[in-house]
Amino acid sequence: MSEHTYEITVIGGGPVGMFAAFYAGLRSADVLLVESLSELGGQTGNLYPAKTLYDIGGIPGVSGQELVDRLKQQVTHFQPTIRTATAVTGITPVDGGFTLTTTGEPIHTKAVIVATGGGAFTPRRLAVDYDPALDGRNVLYFVKNLESFRGLDVAIAGGGDSAIDWALALEPIAQSVHLIHRRNQFRGLESSVETLQASSVQLHTPFLIDAVTAASDRIDVALKEVRGPSSATLNVDRLLVNYGFMSDNKQLRNWGLELAGNAIAVDSQMATSIPGIYAIGDVADYPGKLKLIASGFGEAPTAVTGALNYLYPERKQALHSTQLYH
Ligand SMILES: Cc1cc2nc3c(=O)[nH]c(=O)nc-3n(C[C@H](O)[C@H](O)[C@H](O)COP(=O)(O)OP(=O)(O)OC[C@H]3O[C@@H](n4cnc5c(N)ncnc54)[C@H](O)[C@@H]3O)c2cc1C
Repeated sequence: MSEHTYEITVIGGGPVGMFAAFYAGLRSADVLLVESLSELGGQTGNLYPAKTLYDIGGIPGVSGQELVDRLKQQVTHFQPTIRTATAVTGITPVDGGFTLTTTGEPIHTKAVIVATGGGAFTPRRLAVDYDPALDGRNVLYFVKNLESFRGLDVAIAGGGDSAIDWALALEPIAQSVHLIHRRNQFRGLESSVETLQASSVQLHTPFLIDAVTAASDRIDVALKEVRGPSSATLNVDRLLVNYGFMSDNKQLRNWGLELAGNAIAVDSQMATSIPGIYAIGDVADYPGKLKLIASGFGEAPTAVTGALNYLYPERKQALHSTQLYH
């Protein structure tokens, strides 16, 4: 068992946790980054790697995957310890810091930054029964690689931002794109909805999916009009389901931290109700909180600085990377 005590342990290897671990390295902290999945990347890497993000400062447009790749490159600069496939299950205050119980070895640390985002999540599934053998082949809940749709007929179920993002990203790649939504209005950003309406994506609203059946190596997606008599069947290669995700942050309730709904309540230093534990990113809540990567990128230096001031109140350190990057 490792007896090493890290100065700062960041729990969660999403974009915000990765940036926090980098920034802690920039401030010369001995840092550990722990991620429950086998890959760093959080929501950005797992839920929307193909989406283009336009709201990261200084980058006019970047795919989720590219942002994650750049963050991975950045976080490794100061060679922090990174433990993937390890979930933190408990935080116990001990003399001089905390012991974290995990699905692997326990971790000893002086301070903690919780960046667990929405927790472990699973996609909301289609509401109709269908042959499970179609899962992962014709019926998909994630888009990992846009190129794998080249020349295919694709139906997308959903009416939110990410269903629209998938439809627009696939339009120039797939042979045809159908978007099925139970309402006539879409819930996406106004600019995306306008682009969608001007695109060649075929809209099927207000329709629900009534059945999905195999048709040799394609599928028939039966549609039924909501509160109307019409029906239709789309014969396509792939059905992408985008009904959102259910996240599980139940574990937080056992960590003894003051919560605000499903998130951790923090002050302006990103400090939680337990001294030495900070929270940032989607898991942190304070008045005016925006669940955006840009907000989390701002919260990370605040939390790292708060943790270092807590550990070493006498130390005065420079704040700018030009003075610290080497
Ligand atoms: C479809 C979609 C589109 C989006 N588009 C944008 C956009 O365009 N711009 C934008 O700014 N934001 C966007 N967001 C929001 C953005 O993804 C989040 O704000 C961001 O991912 C939050 O980062 P995070 O690091 O706090 O959390 P997450 O990305 O949720 O990462 C948390 C990580 O912690 C890990 N973890 C959880 N519990 C534990 C544990 N107990 N032990 C160890 N590891 C754990 C998880 O596995 C995960 O990897 C979008 C979100 C979605 C779902």
